[in-house]
Order: sequence, then C-alpha cells, then structure tokens
Amino acid sequence: MNPNKSQINPGRRAFFQASAVGAIVGAQTLLLGEALGAESSAALDGVLKKPDLLHGEVLRTQGELIESRAAVVERERAIPIAGHSDVLVCGGGPAGIGAALAAARAGASVQLIEVAGCLGGVWTAGLLTKIIGGGDKTGVMQEVLTAMQLRGGDVAKSTSGAVYDPELMKLVLEEMCVQAGVRIQLHTRLVGTVTDEQKRIVAIITESKSGRQAWVAKRYVDCSGDGDLAAQVGCQFDVGYDRNCECQPMSMMALLTGLNTAEVSEFIRENGAEAKSRFYKFMKEAGIDPSYRAPTLRHLHSGIYSLMTNHEYGVSAFDAGAITEATIRSRAEVHAIVQGLRKLGSPWQDLAVVATAEQIGVREGRRIRGRYYITADDLISGMRHKEAVCSTRFGFDVHNVFPDGSNPPDVKRYQAAGVKKYDIPLPALVAADVDGLMMAGRCISGDFLAHSSYRVTGNAVPMGEAAGLTSAVSIQKGVMPHELAWNEVQKFAQTKTVAS
Ligand SMILES: Cc1cc2nc3c(=O)[nH]c(=O)nc-3n(C[C@H](O)[C@H](O)[C@H](O)COP(=O)(O)OP(=O)(O)OC[C@H]3O[C@@H](n4cnc5c(N)ncnc54)[C@H](O)[C@@H]3O)c2cc1C
Repeated sequence: MNPNKSQINPGRRAFFQASAVGAIVGAQTLLLGEALGAESSAALDGVLKKPDLLHGEVLRTQGELIESRAAVVERERAIPIAGHSDVLVCGGGPAGIGAALAAARAGASVQLIEVAGCLGGVWTAGLLTKIIGGGDKTGVMQEVLTAMQLRGGDVAKSTSGAVYDPELMKLVLEEMCVQAGVRIQLHTRLVGTVTDEQKRIVAIITESKSGRQAWVAKRYVDCSGDGDLAAQVGCQFDVGYDRNCECQPMSMMALLTGLNTAEVSEFIRENGAEAKSRFYKFMKEAGIDPSYRAPTLRHLHSGIYSLMTNHEYGVSAFDAGAITEATIRSRAEVHAIVQGLRKLGSPWQDLAVVATAEQIGVREGRRIRGRYYITADDLISGMRHKEAVCSTRFGFDVHNVFPDGSNPPDVKRYQAAGVKKYDIPLPALVAADVDGLMMAGRCISGDFLAHSSYRVTGNAVPMGEAAGLTSAVSIQKGVMPHELAWNEVQKFAQTKTVAS
C-alpha cells in the first residue's frame, strides 16, 4: 500500500516540500523524548527490538499480578514505531473513508487504521445496505454512489446507488483508497495514545497480530464511530440521552436468499414505506415476534436480500462482554426468524441466511465535545452556519430506546416539530480539548437528538472529507485545525493542491 517515490503524484510532492522541515515535525520528535523523559527514552532505545513478524516473533509482555489479584501491572517497555504519516485516520467507516481520501488527495501522506477485515464500517462489516442522505452530496459520497450504481445490479441502478451490495462496497472502497495512496492497515485496533504536556497527541498505540505498535502523525482524525481516539486523549464526551447513558438499540443485520421477488414484493421496502408494517403484521400473525417492530427487507440483486429485524436494548458500546452477548443473542434471533418463516411454506420455504454481520450495528457511542455543539433546536430551526461542511434534512431517527417500544420524553415533541434543512459546521468536527484532533461521523459534537439525524452515512462521508482536508491544509499552513475557517480551507485546497 505504501506508494514508492515514483508513484507519488505532483500534489503529494508539493506537500512534502511544504511540510518536511516544518516546526511541527521537529516539535513532535522532541516531545516524544520529553514525554518519556530523556533518560528513560534513551534507556528504552537500547532495548528496542522490532519482532520478526515473518518468523512469528512477538514483543513479549511482562508484568506482575498485584496482591489482591484484582489487576496485573504491566512492565514498561518500548513500543516500536510502525509508521509515520501526515494525517492518521482511526476508523475506516464512511467517515474514515471520506477523511482518508480527502487528505490523501490534498497531497498528505495518510495512514488509515481499521480494526475490521474490510473498509466501510457499518456499510460493510455491519451489512447495512442503504445509504441515507447521500443523494444531494458531492465529492466522495457522489463517487461512491456512482460506483454502486454503475457496478451494482438493477436495484442499485434504480436507487441511484443508494441500495447497494456490501461486498461490492468493500471492493470499491479498497480500490479508491489504494488509488489515492492511502496506507491501509486492517485488523488493527487503536488502544491508546501518547500525549505531551499540552495534551497534544504525539503517537497512537495499536494492537494487532503484529503486537503493540505505535504510529506517529502530524494530525489525527477520530472516525471510530465510538470516539475511541478522543476518549484515549482525555477529551470530554457525552453518551446517550441522559446521565443513565440511555442509547438507541443495536441491530444485527443479515443477508438472505431463497425468495422469489415477485411473491414477496409487498414486503420489500423499496416498494413503499408501508412494507415494514405489513411485514411486521404478517410475522405477528404467523406467531413470529421480532424484537425490531419495523422489519426491513430489501432486495439487492440476483435473489440476495438484506434484513433488519433485530433490536438489542441497553447494550453499552464500550462493554465487549455485553456486545458479545448481544451478538450471540441477535444472531440466534435472526436464524430463528428465518426458520419460523421457512415453516410457513411457499414462498418462504427456501429462505436461507447467507450471512449475518461480523459486527453488530452500533447506533451510538461517544459524542466528543467539539468547538460547536449541534442541538435538536438547531435542527428544528434549520440552523445555517457560515462554516457549513454539508447540509441535511434527515429527520430525528430514534429507534425505540426502551424495550417496551417507548422513548425519552423529548423525542415525540421534537419529532412533531420536524427537522428543517440544517448545516453541520466545521467547528463541530474539531475537538474542544485537544489541538490537532478532529472527529467525523457519528462521534462528532452534538446532543442525543441531533445525533439521531446527522449520524446517517450520507452525512458521515462529507464530514470525513472536511476533517481530512482541514487536517491536511492545517499542516501545509503550519497552523492547528481550529485556527482555520472552512472557507480558508477550501480556498487553500483549490489554489495549492495539484490534482494528478
Ligand atoms: C443497524 C444500523 C442501521 C442503520 N441504518 C442506516 C441506513 O439505512 N442508512 C444510513 O445512511 N445510515 C444508517 N445507520 C447509521 C450509520 O450506519 C452510522 O451512523 C454511520 O455508519 C456512521 O459512520 P462512521 O464512519 O462514523 O461510523 P462506523 O460506520 O461505525 O465506522 C467506524 C469504523 O471505525 C472502526 N473502529 C472502531 N473503533 C476502532 C478502533 N479503536 N480502532 C480501529 N478502528 C476502529 C470500526 O471498525 C468501523 O469500521 C445505521 C446504523 C446502524 C447501526
């Protein structure tokens, strides 16, 4: 993935010249030494040995179990630096793709860190099959929709790429990122950060089959959905509706086959909004009681369907044990529902599960505090902002927070008021507490209700693009992202970037 020199486009070379001897590079190297303490840093330098990955070597951990047996204390060790880049993007979902592509196309070297085995986040690992709010967007969002439309089946064509095949999405995203020169590291999870005394990020720490590794960049973009990077740095954040962190439920998505499209057309979402309630009524009458009361069946192409019919309530996005239980429970529910439908006979008798999502769909994680906080009132008043990176009119989409089908009290009131087209401003993507860190996607700064609208993927992509571009331009201009206005970023990008 690493472009060799001859592959570097002219824009990229210009970028190198602009930033190679910048104060920021020097400062970061110095600060890393300072962060460890010069003596400690030198001592660890001597013992640093990169494991021979080809021969299966590991960087061994050492430590002690404390007396109470409640914890293990890890011994200090040197973590090899695995890579340097201008911009590091954590998370390769819709937002991360936008960020990585925009930064790379602006000439920055970009490292993308993704824990799954594919790019796309909820789009792919989560088996989502519908892009909401993307149709009126330009840039990367339009490129993705066009690719889905051109290379997808009839349904993708008739929906202008909005209903897509997640497998095709994996391929297209990899192609786009490879072509732009983004360095992709899959199967790798961010687990920590190293900061200096000003709370600026010096390096991030990851875990993977290659062990614990560190990555150094000049700017960082948190596109992890859950705000993992920002939380590690110590940024303030909000979770859920109120102090009890009441969040929207998670959902296990599935791909199915074995249906004749004409025979189940009344239940297919693309044939009308009432398809969901009709399918629910049909299931209930057949003695099937899905945990999501608006089951959504989509035909993708060639007899392949997607189904969302599960809700997992009260599961914390930060509790791997609880997510595991929800995953097992939800997968069992999907299979049980399919078995229940099969028993009904024609046209369901050949119904089969092709795949369930590798990652249960998480609707809500941390909302990191930025330099603007988008509120539900902004949405109902149709807030316009001079630093708008994109606009949307998608409604308050709160799946029932509570298992009895109810929601917090404000939800109905705001839903009745309705969303007017509103702006997502750049400062909502700039971390409030740490310089040099931006966010994009569902972890940006806003309240519970605003998040239920801006979180959709048609917004996540342009947010990512804005964060990636602002990060890249901020390096070239030798300032921090919060010191740039969006129109300056756009103007600078237009004049300085040499498109290849
Ligand atoms: C069940 C469900 C149905 C939905 N339906 C729709 C819909 O129909 N249409 C629509 O447009 N939107 C829908 N949404 C909303 C939308 O999918 C998300 O809000 C959107 O994906 C947000 O994009 P993102 O890039 O911020 O986050 P994500 O898609 O969650 O991507 C985050 C990425 O970061 C990676 N990551 C996380 N933590 C780490 C870490 N520590 N280290 C490395 N990588 C990490 C993840 O693996 C993932 O790839 C739905 C969401 C869910 C859960």
